[in-house]
Amino acid sequence: MFQVNNLTFKYPKNKDNTIKGISFSIKDGEIFGLLGPSGVGKSTTQRILIKLLDKYSGEILYKGKDLKSYGKQYYQEIGVGFEMPVHFSKLTALENLNFFKKLYRSPADIDKLLTLVGLDEDRNKKISEYSKGMKVRLNFVRALLNNPQMLFLDEPTNGLDPKNARIIKNMILEFKNNGGTILLTTHLMNDVDELCDRVAFMAQGQIKEIDTPKNLKLKHGQRKVAVEYKDEVIKTDSFDLDSLSTNEAFFNIIKTKKIITIHSGETNLDDIFIKVTGVENNA
Ligand code: ADP
Repeated sequence: MFQVNNLTFKYPKNKDNTIKGISFSIKDGEIFGLLGPSGVGKSTTQRILIKLLDKYSGEILYKGKDLKSYGKQYYQEIGVGFEMPVHFSKLTALENLNFFKKLYRSPADIDKLLTLVGLDEDRNKKISEYSKGMKVRLNFVRALLNNPQMLFLDEPTNGLDPKNARIIKNMILEFKNNGGTILLTTHLMNDVDELCDRVAFMAQGQIKEIDTPKNLKLKHGQRKVAVEYKDEVIKTDSFDLDSLSTNEAFFNIIKTKKIITIHSGETNLDDIFIKVTGVENNA
């Protein structure tokens, strides 16, 4: 869907480049996560890919063609869900959606989308009466309004309770299952685990790692297995995964002790975040 080669970008007022020669691809039908601490250039990268910023160097191909060669048609094909929902607050949800719907050639079914995100009964409420979570859900509907093939989502579950976050995550997965492609930014590593096929970790305007969450966990984890068991007191022993089949001490514990937990030592994405970017993920 996208091939980005050596992308570099500087805001006119700044001295230094914000994006410092990044390269990555987003495959057709995948959910690609762009991760990293605040201020490393994730939103700037998204803004470039949605053609809000065009004074970049390097090359961006969308469906094999230079992104710069696309005109307004591009906005018929992509959906954008920014982090801060922007709606007309004096209008109702339905009025908002009907306004934006007019911009698109093949709009989605508004009733269906409102029902899916659980805003069916609040469609005629003014946005000024909406809670933050309702606005976030409405924002997601806005992003889907033109039946896009490609979705750009910035923190799509931010501010949602677990039930509503679940609804949005299921809709993201359904979008993918129907053939859609997604570029996603989030600080929630559980969401990344659940949603992303591949992720890129950014730090200081560069990409430090790109891979599947699973491969990253294996790469940064230890090939160990930790066994927690009850002897007289609770004990934990750790064994080398590669020589497990010949490890008598391991077998002895398995055969003779009451096992409480067994875990292989792949790490989690939060630890990888800190290791790769050098910054705690505390957003
Ligand atoms: P992230 O999305 O990873 O939090 P951003 O892409 O928003 O990071 O910002 C990257 C850097 O670019 C930050 O240092 C930020 O201050 C700077 N920046 C963002 N927008 C502008 C702008 N309009 N003008 C100048 N600098 C900007």
